[in-house]
Amino acid sequence: METCLTTATHTDAVLEATGVVAGYGRKTILHGLDLHVRAGEIYALLGANGAGKTTTLSLFLGFVAPSAGQVRVHRADPAASPEEARRRLAYIPENVALYEHLSARENVAYLLALAGQSAADAPIDASLAAAGLAADAFDRRVAGFSKGMRQKVAIGLALARRVPVLLLDEPTSGLDPQATAEFNRLLGVLRGEGVAVLMVTHDLLGAADVADRIGFLDAGRLVEEVAATGADRFDVRSLHRRYGGQAA
Ligand code: ATP
Repeated sequence: METCLTTATHTDAVLEATGVVAGYGRKTILHGLDLHVRAGEIYALLGANGAGKTTTLSLFLGFVAPSAGQVRVHRADPAASPEEARRRLAYIPENVALYEHLSARENVAYLLALAGQSAADAPIDASLAAAGLAADAFDRRVAGFSKGMRQKVAIGLALARRVPVLLLDEPTSGLDPQATAEFNRLLGVLRGEGVAVLMVTHDLLGAADVADRIGFLDAGRLVEEVAATGADRFDVRSLHRRYGGQAA
């Protein structure tokens, strides 16, 4: 990658990991990770099982502290001030956990209150609608919701919180093609609002559909980064030949 591009990436980054060494106990998992995501960018992180993708998310969430290097979430240091970092991000795990006996609207209201924010029904409904949830589902208990509907509630919450960063773990695994397309549209909405999106996935083709950049993690190191546009635009076929076996 050219020096000027690298410099621009670092200065604009909302999510930053620079030279990060981290792991569990004496086991090092991330060996000098450099990863930067800008505002309004969707970044897909791919890698084989055990490459360190979830550990990278844990780093930004403040659950794993680096032994070297620097981590920032919208300028907050998640190791030193995890609460501050978490206030600036929304994390959507593979299976979204909601309060099953509460409705979609009640879930967002309650989770907003836990995050120290209050909101009236109207802005909550607007966020749920922007997240693509049908209006007749707002008042229904989430117990019967599909994975796609649960994600919409979680994204509605992220929109209502107006966070600058969204972390996603395997967001489209188990979604049907239509729900995946809808989910990708939603990510486009968040990108349009200037949110920095980092998604961890095994799905190279799906990542190529939605991401602005794709990074390949191997044994805790970012071994390649490719962009959706510009001179180093990604060539899915050649990437699949190189990484399909490990990342698909
Ligand atoms: P997958 O695609 O299977 O989810 P991943 O790329 O997300 O893999 P991680 O979950 O980050 O990989 O795991 C990286 C390494 O860290 C693995 O060897 C895993 O066994 C180890 N590991 C993960 N969590 C812990 C933990 N809490 N304690 C000790 N080792 C862990």
